[in-house]
Amino acid sequence: MLNSSPKRINPLLQFVVKVSKYCNLRCAYCYEYNELAHKAVIALPAMQQFFQNIRSYAEAHCSKIDFIWHGGEPLLVKLDYYRELAALQTQILGKQLHFQNGVQSNLTVLTERHLQFLKDKEFFQTIGVSFDVYGDQRIDIKGKLKTQAVLMHMQALQAHGIRFGAITVLAQNTYPHLQAIYQFYDSIGVSFRCLPIYRGISEAQIDQHSLSQEEILKSLLLLFTCWSQSPTATPVEPLNRWIDYALSYLASKPVHTDLYDKRWDEQTFMVNTDGQVWGTSETYDPVYCYGNIFSQSMEEILASAGRKRAIQASRQRVENFCTNCSYRGHCDGKFMGEATPIQIEQTRQSGCLVRKALDAIIPSLAQAQVA
Ligand code: SF4
Repeated sequence: MLNSSPKRINPLLQFVVKVSKYCNLRCAYCYEYNELAHKAVIALPAMQQFFQNIRSYAEAHCSKIDFIWHGGEPLLVKLDYYRELAALQTQILGKQLHFQNGVQSNLTVLTERHLQFLKDKEFFQTIGVSFDVYGDQRIDIKGKLKTQAVLMHMQALQAHGIRFGAITVLAQNTYPHLQAIYQFYDSIGVSFRCLPIYRGISEAQIDQHSLSQEEILKSLLLLFTCWSQSPTATPVEPLNRWIDYALSYLASKPVHTDLYDKRWDEQTFMVNTDGQVWGTSETYDPVYCYGNIFSQSMEEILASAGRKRAIQASRQRVENFCTNCSYRGHCDGKFMGEATPIQIEQTRQSGCLVRKALDAIIPSLAQAQVA
């Protein structure tokens, strides 16, 4: 048996909502690449249904709901649309539920109106910027690199006192620049997530842009070195989480009584423009579709056959890889429980990436503790 203690539903609920697939960039590694010219935005009546369909479940089980508005490029959608969403949320989710809105943007478009909207927190309370800093992927439709525009907009956010985080894609073209990428974010005091390419629109796209597990491990260990040598030590995910695992291991104080169980611990749900819902590891695979949140309740989504299949596969992976792992209890096994098909294949061939990273960083941390 995987876990022994009685489980309760995760009180945190997060929806990553594909508000529109439309984007002004054409990054060749994008897993939405084939749909980036589609200008449609989710209609407001569908959004109204969405909020209504999650309300009773959220009231019964959740302490907080996070909506991450994603695309495409969500800042190409009119700001009045988000004002309408804010009114709908207040009307339907009301004051009983604690909810928050965030935006994941490429930050290539940022007018004075956007700045004021973000500064006033009219709708978005958190901002994530997708920016590689180096590499040649972040190009517009005409093939022009947008790096300077994003740098300028980041400066504008900081000048207005608007806080943000960032995501850098770890791919063939950013791999050689990782140290400089860390130094850039460290110099401006912005924490970021280093996100390896773990899904794509085709085998060819994945082959062209993704890294092997060995390259990913090497990259993350390089970031660990940059972090440990920096006086400011700006955090970088997923390393930050793994450092917590390592410190728990060194202190011999396991913090996770149970391993990750997708049935109870799943927190993040991907909502496509048509309302179809997936977990984060199986996104867009029809076999694992959870249903449609525009026409079904959250309770129905969670009880769907697609989700049951995803739970079964997740539990099997955790059972196979985590049960006898020496880091069990320090690591919660979520990496394995939410692995995408690419991660599953890499694990099958080479073992668990987190385990290998912990094997490497634990001696360094132990040495630093002694020194
Ligand atoms: S290190 Fe890997 S195998 Fe070990 S518990 Fe964590 S996810 Fe599972």
